[in-house]
Amino acid sequence: MGRDLSNLNVSALKGVGPKVADLLAKVGVSTILDALLYLPFRYEDRSDISNMINASDGATQNFIGKVVSSDLLDLSKGGRSVKGDSKTPYKGSRGGRGHLLAEAVINDGTGLIKCKWFNQPWLAAKFKSGSRVFISGKVKRTRWAPHFEIDNPVFDFLDIESEQPQQDEGQIIPVYPTTDGITTKKLRSFILSAVARYSYALEDPIPSEILKRSGLPGLLESVQAVHEPPEGADIEAMNRVASPWQRRLIFGEFFMLEAGLAVLRRGKKIERGNAFKPIKGGLVDKLASALPFKLTGAQEKVLTDIFNDMSAQSPMNRLLQGDVGSGKTIVALMSMLRAVDNGYQAVLMAPTEILATQHYINIHKMLEELGVGIRLITSASKSGLEDMASGKAEIAVGTHALIQEGVEFKRLGLIVVDEQHRFGVLQRAELKKKAHNPDIIIMTATPIPRTLSLTLYGDLDYSVIDELPPGRTPVATTSHMPDDKPRVYEAIREEVESGGQVYVVYPLIEETENSDLKSAVNGREALARMYKDKRVDIVHGRMRASEKEEVMSGFKAGVIDILVSTTVIEVGVDVSNASLMVIVNSERFGLAQLHQLRGRVGRGQRASRCMLLLGGPMSESATRRIDVMRETNDGFRVAEVDLEIRGPGEFLGTRQSGMPELKVANIMRDAKVLEDARREAFALLDRDPGLEGYPALKRELERVWRGRVELFSTG
Ligand code: ADP
Ligand code: MG
Repeated sequence: MGRDLSNLNVSALKGVGPKVADLLAKVGVSTILDALLYLPFRYEDRSDISNMINASDGATQNFIGKVVSSDLLDLSKGGRSVKGDSKTPYKGSRGGRGHLLAEAVINDGTGLIKCKWFNQPWLAAKFKSGSRVFISGKVKRTRWAPHFEIDNPVFDFLDIESEQPQQDEGQIIPVYPTTDGITTKKLRSFILSAVARYSYALEDPIPSEILKRSGLPGLLESVQAVHEPPEGADIEAMNRVASPWQRRLIFGEFFMLEAGLAVLRRGKKIERGNAFKPIKGGLVDKLASALPFKLTGAQEKVLTDIFNDMSAQSPMNRLLQGDVGSGKTIVALMSMLRAVDNGYQAVLMAPTEILATQHYINIHKMLEELGVGIRLITSASKSGLEDMASGKAEIAVGTHALIQEGVEFKRLGLIVVDEQHRFGVLQRAELKKKAHNPDIIIMTATPIPRTLSLTLYGDLDYSVIDELPPGRTPVATTSHMPDDKPRVYEAIREEVESGGQVYVVYPLIEETENSDLKSAVNGREALARMYKDKRVDIVHGRMRASEKEEVMSGFKAGVIDILVSTTVIEVGVDVSNASLMVIVNSERFGLAQLHQLRGRVGRGQRASRCMLLLGGPMSESATRRIDVMRETNDGFRVAEVDLEIRGPGEFLGTRQSGMPELKVANIMRDAKVLEDARREAFALLDRDPGLEGYPALKRELERVWRGRVELFSTG
C-alpha cells in the first residue's frame, strides 16, 4: 500500500513540528502510513450523554461535566489525603501497592458524581479544577454525598473554552493510546487530518478476489471507518475489535506475514540442497544396532520424516518438538550420521556450555568405536575449529560459538539446533550462510500452540515426538511454605540414603546478579553442614568451563550426592539416577523454566519427586504457575497456561524472531483470521510464485519484510 505514504513523514501534517513528531514516534507513528494504521483502542459513544440528575444505580452511563475538585488518599493511612505531599512514595515510581486512591468530583450543572481510580495516583493531579471532561462507567449509589460514584471510569478531557457541545460530541469518538506530552484530543486531530488528506492515496495490496471471498471490505473503506465510524456502526463490536473494518486490517497484517513465510518456504523448496541417501551398512545402521534400547514408535516416525526430507534434493527445514525426556538427542544423532554417511559434516548447537559439553561427552561415547571424528566448540574450547575447516572431523557439538563469524566448515550438510525455541527466521538465515543450503532441524521441548507455530515457524515443516520412552514414572510435584523446610531437608536425606541423587536449584535471573549467586553459594555451604556424611557440590555460570565439566561428570558418575546449582542446568542435562529436584524460591521462576527443571528428574527407573520451596510473597501469576506445576506433568498443558500468563510476544520472544511486527492483529484473539489469511496467502503464492500479477502486493511485501529477509531474489 502506498509506497509514498510509508516514506512520507508525519511532519507533513499541519501542526506537527519536530517536537510533536518525536512524541508521535514514541507511539510508533513516524510516517503518514503509520498514522493511518494507528488504531483507536476504544470507542466512546457520545451520542448518549446523560444528565447527572438522572444517574441510575447499576447503569453504565456517559456524562460530560467540569472537575470540581480532586484528591489523593492513602488507604494504608486511614484514607489520609496525600495530594501534593512530596514525600509520598508514589512520586516518580509505579509503586504504591494498591493503597493509593485518586478521586475527582465532576459537576454537570444538574448534579455531582465522584470518580475513583485505584492504583493510578498521577490522575489526582491530572484532574484540575475547571477542566471539562467526558466520563463513562458503571454508576454506583452510595450512602455518602454526592451519593453517586463510578469506579475506574474511562475519561477524556474536552475543550475547556467551548460551552457548547463540541462538534465531535454526540457521535462515536475514537480514543487512541497516547503518551505524555500529547493529549488524546491532539493526537486524534492529527490522525483524523491524516485520514482526511491522505487515505485516498492508499493502495490496497490484497487482491480483490481474496477480499471478496473472505467477505472483507477494502482498505480505504476500512481505514476511514476505524477512525471515523459511520452512522449506525456497531460500537460494541468495534470495542471488541470485531467489526468488519478491523477484521479487514487484521487480515491484511496476517496476510503480509503469511505471504512472506510462503515466499520463504517456496524459496527453500526450489533451492537445491544435498540429497542424503540411505547408505546400507553405514554409520546409521551401525548405531541403530548398537543402541541399548529400542526406539519408541514416535521416534521412529519422526526419523522417517527426517530421512525422507534428507533424501530429497531440496533443503530440509524441520521443527522437531518433544517434551523433556522424550528422546530428541538420539534422533538428532541418527540424522547427523546420515549426513556423515554421505560424506558431509554435521553440527549440533546447544544453548548452554554445560549442555553442549554433555552432548559432546555422550555422543563421543556412542560414536567413538564407529570412528567418527567429533569436536567440542564453545567460546572456551575452540581448538576443534581447525579440524572442522579441514574436514578432518565430521561432527561438531557446541554453543553459539559454532556459528560465529570466521568459523568455517569443509562440507557442512546438516545443522541441528537443540532446545532453542527462540530461533526465528532471522537467526535461521544466519545459520544457512555457514554452508550451501544445509538441512536444518530445530528441536524444542516447548509445545507451541498451533496458531503460534503458524506465525513463528510458518515456513517450517513440523514433527512431534508425542510419546515418552517406556518405564518413566510421572514426577510427583509438591509445594512447600518456608516453615515446611524441615520436610524438604528430610526428603533430601531419604533420597540420598536410598541411593538417589538430588538437585537443589537456586534462581539466578542474571548471571551477573551477585546476590543470587551468593544465595546459591551459601545454600551449598548450609547443605554441606547439614549433610556432613554426604557429598555436596555446586555448579554455576561463573565457573570456568573445565570446572563445570568436572562437577557435572562427578554428578553423573554418582560421586556427588547433592548438586546445588543455578539455572545453568535448566535445559537438557541428563542424569538418570537423579530423582529429587528441589527448587528454592520457586515463585521467582517462569513456568517454562520450572517445567524444564523438573524434566531433569524422572528420567530413569527411580520414582522421582519435585519439591517447590516457596520463599516470598506470591503474586497471582506465581500462584498459578505453582498450581499448574502441582497439577500436571503434561508439557502441553504447562505451555498453554504459560502462554495465557505471559502473552504470545514474550512466550516466544517474537521480538528477536525477525518477523514483521503485528500492530493491529493479536495471534490469540484473532486465531481464526490468521488461519484464513494463511490459507489464502499460501494458495496465492502457489498460483503465482513471483506475484507477477500482483505488483502492489509484491511491493508491499518487500516493504514489510525489508531489512529482515530477502524475499525475492533479484536474479
Ligand atoms: P530430550 O528429548 O529431553 O532431549 P534426551 O534425548 O536427553 O531427551 O533423552 C532422555 C533420556 O532417555 C536419555 O537418557 C536417553 O538415552 C533416553 N532414551 C532416549 N530414547 C529412548 C528409548 N527409546 N528408550 C529408552 N530410553 C531412551
Ligand atoms: Mg535434550
